[in-house]
Amino acid sequence: MNIMDVSVKDQKDDGFKTTTEQTKNGLRERRSIVEDKGKNGKMQQKQQQRDGVSPGEKHENLYVALRELPAFSHLNRQVQEIVNQSTWWEIRGTDWAVLFSALAVTLLCLPLMRINNWWTLVVGGVLSGIAHASLTVKGGHLATHGVLSTSRFWNKIWTRFFIEFLGSYSSHMTHEYHIKLHHPHTNIIGLGDSSSWKMPGLSRFPYMFVAPMALPIITPFVAISQMWGLWKPMFLFACVVLSGYTSNVLLLVYISRFSVAGAIAFIILNRAVMMIPYIHVNIFQHIGLSMYSKDDRPTRLYQMATGVLNLNRNPLLDYCFGLGISNCHVEHHLFPKLSDNMCLKIKPVVSAFFKQHNLPYQERNYSERLHLFVDKYEELMVNAPTILHFVGIQ
Ligand SMILES: [Zn+2]
Repeated sequence: MNIMDVSVKDQKDDGFKTTTEQTKNGLRERRSIVEDKGKNGKMQQKQQQRDGVSPGEKHENLYVALRELPAFSHLNRQVQEIVNQSTWWEIRGTDWAVLFSALAVTLLCLPLMRINNWWTLVVGGVLSGIAHASLTVKGGHLATHGVLSTSRFWNKIWTRFFIEFLGSYSSHMTHEYHIKLHHPHTNIIGLGDSSSWKMPGLSRFPYMFVAPMALPIITPFVAISQMWGLWKPMFLFACVVLSGYTSNVLLLVYISRFSVAGAIAFIILNRAVMMIPYIHVNIFQHIGLSMYSKDDRPTRLYQMATGVLNLNRNPLLDYCFGLGISNCHVEHHLFPKLSDNMCLKIKPVVSAFFKQHNLPYQERNYSERLHLFVDKYEELMVNAPTILHFVGIQ
């Protein structure tokens, strides 16, 4: 779509509205709605077809004063200074300690569940489920970003271990979707817009509170369907996942004294323990925020400020999914090569920089987002979002 054509049309066509807004934070920003679902639907549909807009899509022009936007290099300089003054323990050690603690919890729960008592089984199952989420989500995410080691070889080993051996998903597809699409194209429609998390066929309660429990069963099959045709990575993936499941079953059979069928049933339930908040966190942090057209995308700093949100601190979420996914998601999107602990360390500098330059620094409560998504499920998870066309004005 040609922005100039649309801007002229805004002023001429009565079927289209034009609005001017001053953002809360004071950054000069103006929006013009170039399509809406009004009374004159048919006339507008014809107009949309001429403009290349699909029916049901809403488009807005977002005019931002470029001179008021700060340069990312200024923030980057401040952050690099902090990194240069940090110790190995701060840069990598703290996160490794969290992952070792999760591994230790997993191993300690094995003999605990041998005791013939329902309580020890439930406690062991829940604790090892929490530890499993930490190893696969936090560990897998850090490994994918190459944070756990300075060596490329060891980072590849760690991605195979955390994502495939323990998590039964594909490290190859994680790299394709997360590193190549989601990070550079955050909230860009058709690229990294988080639409893969949407399942419009499911209504709000089944999607939000039931379907996530099926993830441990469907995850390896989803990975295979995504890799179909990529025979070599698919074969390697299948070998690693099968050896991961076999090792898990053997540990439960020989240490916890489960039957083979009991061990398989336990693994499915155990890996589902944190899957409901896992889905929630993934949809809460991008969906419902500004979504941009790939043709008229904003500067990276503005894209991350308006398209990424931090959740307030929550020890369970931070432990299971890592600070880079929960409390420091904005920092992670700006500096994806930093560990979770370093994202926390630079957080005051990033938030001060955003406030100083009147950029939105978005933070919300988990419960607040949960209520919003349950209330507005159709709008956020089923209907197409409004697409913003970023127009920089001098
Ligand atoms: Zn990431």
